[in-house]
Amino acid sequence: MCPMWVGTSWKMSKGLAEARRYVRGLADHLDGLAPAGVQPFVIPSFTALAAVNDELGADSPVLLGAQNAHWEDQGAWTGEVSVAQAKDAGAQLVEIGHSERREHFGETVQTTRLKVAATLTHELVPLLCIGESAEVKQAGGSSRFILEQAAGALDGLDPEQLARVVIAYEPIWAIGETGRPATTQELREPFRDLGREYGRRVRGLLYGGSVNLDNAADLLGIDHVTGLFVGRAAWQLAGFLSLLEIAAAHPKATG
Ligand code: PEP
Repeated sequence: MCPMWVGTSWKMSKGLAEARRYVRGLADHLDGLAPAGVQPFVIPSFTALAAVNDELGADSPVLLGAQNAHWEDQGAWTGEVSVAQAKDAGAQLVEIGHSERREHFGETVQTTRLKVAATLTHELVPLLCIGESAEVKQAGGSSRFILEQAAGALDGLDPEQLARVVIAYEPIWAIGETGRPATTQELREPFRDLGREYGRRVRGLLYGGSVNLDNAADLLGIDHVTGLFVGRAAWQLAGFLSLLEIAAAHPKATG
């Protein structure tokens, strides 16, 4: 059975001391073993990547991720960090195409494709984020939009490469402070369509957007959902640990 992926991106938060404290607490709690049936992951800022890797230690059950990475290994790309450099600092996974990067930093379908390819070349896990705006949803175009985003980013991959990709569906209208939590009803159709196209072909299909301790179990219960990608509710360690427990107790993890 595939594990349920439960992870958090800290976005642009946490200095070194706080990052170390969080992960030390996580490592102590897990004591070398992820809850059965669950794959935890943590995605700090680049500045904390090496420190978090250090705290997790070798053979940690927690996958460490980078929030972005450039597709070239090196070169005249001031301010960028390559997949190779992220890997060197300990990253095992690279988050690609978060809606904030698409909106504020010019991320396009083409750049997500280059980043997915580079991440696979370096044998890291691409965590591809897709999601539509409120306007697209209102116009009834959610599934078509997210399937196009995914197809564009995953174009040209062979089945073995695709099987190493994790997709996170994060509707823009549902994420962050201004987001409105999605109902399970609203998510059934996009996940049905993502599931039909990618369910058996990728490593995971996660949901992200205003996930919290009250809605996590229901969200995990949606057909084709194999994990949760969490922001605010996991920024305190206690929240993340509770979410790991909820996932571990879910029939999809225990069954
Ligand atoms: C996000 O921004 O990707 C996200 C999932 O955040 P939150 O859980 O805080 O809505």
